[in-house]
Amino acid sequence: MSPELIAPRVDSRRAKLAGRAAEQIVADVIELGWPVGQVLGSETELLERYGVSRAVLREAIRLVEHQHVARMRRGTGGGLVISEPDIDAVIGPAVIYLLRVGATLDEIFDSRILLEELVAEIASRRAGEADIAAVRDTLEREAAGTATNARLLHRQLAELTANPLLELFVETFSRVSNLYFDEHVTRPDGLADDVRHAHDAIARAILTNDAGLARERMKRHLSAEAEYIRNQPGTVQRLDPTVALTGAIGDKRGEALAREIFTWIAHSGATPGTFVGSEASLMEQHQASRAVVREAIRILEYHQIAVTRRGPGGGLFVAEPDMAALTDIIAIYLRRRGVSLRHILELRTGLELAVVARAADRIRTAADPAGYAEQIEAALRAEAEHGVAQAFGSDEDFHSMLGALTGNSAIELLHRVTMRLGWQFFEQVAGGDPRLSAMSESLPAVVGPAHRGIADALLAGDSELAVMRMRAHMTETAPETI
Ligand SMILES: [Zn+2]
Ligand SMILES: [Zn+2]
Repeated sequence: MSPELIAPRVDSRRAKLAGRAAEQIVADVIELGWPVGQVLGSETELLERYGVSRAVLREAIRLVEHQHVARMRRGTGGGLVISEPDIDAVIGPAVIYLLRVGATLDEIFDSRILLEELVAEIASRRAGEADIAAVRDTLEREAAGTATNARLLHRQLAELTANPLLELFVETFSRVSNLYFDEHVTRPDGLADDVRHAHDAIARAILTNDAGLARERMKRHLSAEAEYIRNQPGTVQRLDPTVALTGAIGDKRGEALAREIFTWIAHSGATPGTFVGSEASLMEQHQASRAVVREAIRILEYHQIAVTRRGPGGGLFVAEPDMAALTDIIAIYLRRRGVSLRHILELRTGLELAVVARAADRIRTAADPAGYAEQIEAALRAEAEHGVAQAFGSDEDFHSMLGALTGNSAIELLHRVTMRLGWQFFEQVAGGDPRLSAMSESLPAVVGPAHRGIADALLAGDSELAVMRMRAHMTETAPETI
């Protein structure tokens, strides 16, 4: 992978070494078969194994603790204990990113519809006899009013796709959307009936393997739910950082201070590059010790909320939002769940088709389409001049441009994280497979004309043709050997 694909997180040398040591720890945990509860080593053993200084090791440990890969246990029999990365490890950073880009409730709902339409389609193709009983059981419990969770059917359908990536995103976006409204709002009885009927109808379409109908019913159901929630009095379009960050950043003193500073950044609307404070001024302003301020700064840097610049005029500054930390955490979570390149490509294809359809709509209905034409031509030019990989690294490639054209920051997040995971996994698999390496060599000759063809369809306002060409492009570039 070209180094540009992974944006440098923090500029200091120690942070880079710590990042590398953390990656090594994760690789070792995977190599061992992820034995949860086992001690990877004492601090002394780890210092020797990874050949780094104590300061670097401690920072690396902090990183793997953030990622829920392992946790340091003090005392006798202590050491770095391997833990289970759960979905909370992903949700915190996802909430932070969505807060930073100001994602609205409508954007989150639209992403959910996109994801769950895809679930309906894939589950319809995969559902077999063995799945009938479990789905019927859920529907019966809903009818009897004994279902413990209104989202149970949705989770079950996501599981039917057997795609861990799709399961993760459906659950993440469902939990994130809950932060925008009062979950416990009492729903009128009529609504519960509507929901039950919708669930019955969706399940019937899926169990009879009718993908088109399942998609349509899922879309109608989620749109109705979105409409209902949008009209509740406690619902907000934009997240309140104080509410949203309560599970995302912990409560230790450094964490609490990080939350306070982030809340200030979010509320004040400070743009990237804005000065937050020096170490000394933050200590004074927040009545905190140097150690607490430093811990807060590390957390803010880890989530790419703020960045430290050294030297005269240095200090803590608001950073450009970046999804690198979130992508790393998602990659780790998914490795634990046995994700393969096939899973990533399946979601990627579904996303690209939805993205190009939304981009086409936006261009077709625009008052001034000339601006879009310029953006499209700029992306094609960047790829022709620097190659697709480098253009992707600097966010100037054709697919990222289409993601931006959707005008939905949550869809952009899903799309870009999936692309990054695709690159990461492709490089890993391709390295050991000569057929894949050969394929990646021949890709540029195929990709250029395909992107041009999709662009022409978009600019001509022909969304059907654009979607069709995108589908052909995804098929053509998908490796056959996985
Ligand atoms: Zn539902
Ligand atoms: Zn492409």
